[in-house]
Amino acid sequence: MLSRTVDSFDEMFDVVVVGYGFGGAVSALSAHDAGAEVLLAEKMPNPGGISICSGGGLRLPHDRDATFQYLKATNDGTTPDNILEAFMDEMVQIDEYVQELATVNGARIKRTERPGSYAFPGFDQMYFLQIDDIPDFDPKRDYAYANALSGGPFMFKVLQDNIAKRGIKTRLGVSAKRLITDDKGAVAGVWLDDGSGPKAVGARKAVILACGGFEHAPEMQRQYWQINPVFSAAFVGNTGDGIRMTTDLGAELWHMWHFHGTYGFRHPDLPFAIRTKRLPDWVPDEREAEAPMSWILVGKNGRRFMNEYDPYMQDTGHRGIDRVDPSQMGQPFVPCYMILDDEARQLYPLGQTMFNDGDYENYEWSQDNLKEVQNGVIRKADTLEELAEMIGCPVEELTSTVANWNKSCDAGVDDLGRPPKSMVPVRQAPFYLAEVWPVVSNTQGGPVHDEKRRVVNAYGEPIPRLYTAGELGGIWGSLYLSGGNLTECFVSGRISGREAASEASRMD
Ligand SMILES: Cc1cc2nc3c(=O)[nH]c(=O)nc-3n(C[C@H](O)[C@H](O)[C@H](O)COP(=O)(O)OP(=O)(O)OC[C@H]3O[C@@H](n4cnc5c(N)ncnc54)[C@H](O)[C@@H]3O)c2cc1C
Repeated sequence: MLSRTVDSFDEMFDVVVVGYGFGGAVSALSAHDAGAEVLLAEKMPNPGGISICSGGGLRLPHDRDATFQYLKATNDGTTPDNILEAFMDEMVQIDEYVQELATVNGARIKRTERPGSYAFPGFDQMYFLQIDDIPDFDPKRDYAYANALSGGPFMFKVLQDNIAKRGIKTRLGVSAKRLITDDKGAVAGVWLDDGSGPKAVGARKAVILACGGFEHAPEMQRQYWQINPVFSAAFVGNTGDGIRMTTDLGAELWHMWHFHGTYGFRHPDLPFAIRTKRLPDWVPDEREAEAPMSWILVGKNGRRFMNEYDPYMQDTGHRGIDRVDPSQMGQPFVPCYMILDDEARQLYPLGQTMFNDGDYENYEWSQDNLKEVQNGVIRKADTLEELAEMIGCPVEELTSTVANWNKSCDAGVDDLGRPPKSMVPVRQAPFYLAEVWPVVSNTQGGPVHDEKRRVVNAYGEPIPRLYTAGELGGIWGSLYLSGGNLTECFVSGRISGREAASEASRMD
């Protein structure tokens, strides 16, 4: 067992940052720019974390106070106002900050108007900022290990070039194991292991944990979530280490139930789930869903049970399948079954992979979904009877589900709230079926922090010299704001880096 205290350190820095996604990168830049000598340690062989897989879009405010009201409404009392106020104070500075960072490699910034996902006051006062071009940069060539959405690699390149330009010491394949404290209980360093055994690395000022959430920690998910199993969409590096290290020192936890997720497929050769096609978000009472959704979902009994197309289904898509039947101790909708017909099959690819992992080859989902019929991710049936047999449900249940659905499509009204224009009938044989599972894109929970992003204990007192950044203990406690996690990486990275660097040195 690694000891909590040590007599001497193998190495010493002012600030040690754990995790090299966007959160860790911005923390390291911020601490460095405030005058600290920084070590940035990353457990995986390649940097980028989940961040590099993302769309790379930061959600930013046109109007500070309106955005505060939106965050207050969507957090529904789960995050105190003073934390949201501090978040807003920083959020208004991010546009200018990215402009500065972008000069490192001539990156081009793109801004897009986009309202929040729900029509609470302030939802129409926000926009997206992305990097959409960098001269001589090719994400597929330069980050061949990352099978990413378009924007994430661009933003990561800007951060990585800034880290390199400043000469910030970076180590890959180095895992943080436990925190080290001094005799007063303040964080004094961290045990880091590069594979050759743990080394005690001291922090004169502070440690910042930016090591993500618990997307790939099934045992932790099992304790905090009812729905089970849930498969990560993107990354195996985030295993809840930051939660273990901080609770070890008495940290309080929050938002652990909340994850950014949806539903998707499993491929036998991948440890990742594959999310369903990203259909455009819609805003209840404000903007209708226009896109056709080619499928319906049914449970093991052959009946539909949820609106398959939530306003922001990439975030809450899994919530409709999160149910337990107490009489059976079973989850009737895990897995559930996607059903579509031959015409719908030709509309678009049903899935899209995006992951950060050099061990697995990029899996390209086919345009017409036929590759997936061949490899068994999707199964084909000539009749509804055959489809019912595959599910193991009574034939009459499934035929009546499909008949009712087709009638609802004709009428343009669905009892379960499916947006009318998204409704696509299931008529044209052959039919297709795929098992569908809950998917976690990223988790929101972790240690509670104060407005300076200091980790606090169960009594609300800061644990001295311990900070977090990024999604580890994020502010999102009820409904998530699209683009919010990446913004939080910048906001919390800037706050934690600055605050950590301003701590008095333990050596003075
Ligand atoms: C496909 C996809 C698309 C997304 N798109 C968006 C989007 O468009 N906008 C948005 O806001 N959010 C998006 N998200 C969510 C967002 O990407 C993440 O919440 C965010 O990037 C998390 O950043 P982070 O720096 O906190 O964590 P990460 O980027 O995951 O970085 C954490 C790093 O810590 C490392 N680490 C873990 N444990 C240790 C340890 N013990 N020692 C050392 N290192 C460790 C990990 O290996 C990892 O590299 C998306 C998520 C997915 C999966």
